[in-house]
Amino acid sequence: MLSCKKATELIEKRLVTKLSPVEKIQLKMHTAICSQCSTYENQSDIIEKCIADIHQPDKEPMKLSSERKEQILKQLEK
Ligand SMILES: [Zn+2]
Repeated sequence: MLSCKKATELIEKRLVTKLSPVEKIQLKMHTAICSQCSTYENQSDIIEKCIADIHQPDKEPMKLSSERKEQILKQLEK
């Protein structure tokens, strides 16, 4: 069984490189029983997504076009 220190290392490693199948299984087994590392893994997933968003500046799903904004405003006025 992995120690928390080793599990944390694998979670951090996962952010920069792919884990080997063995490492993935070891990490999964550890996070299944360790809530602390499981929480840390979830947080690192969020960080990873933020980094991915920064790397893709074209993707702006939250940005509304001015037409769409007008549509929403009209609906609100009703
Ligand atoms: Zn742990």
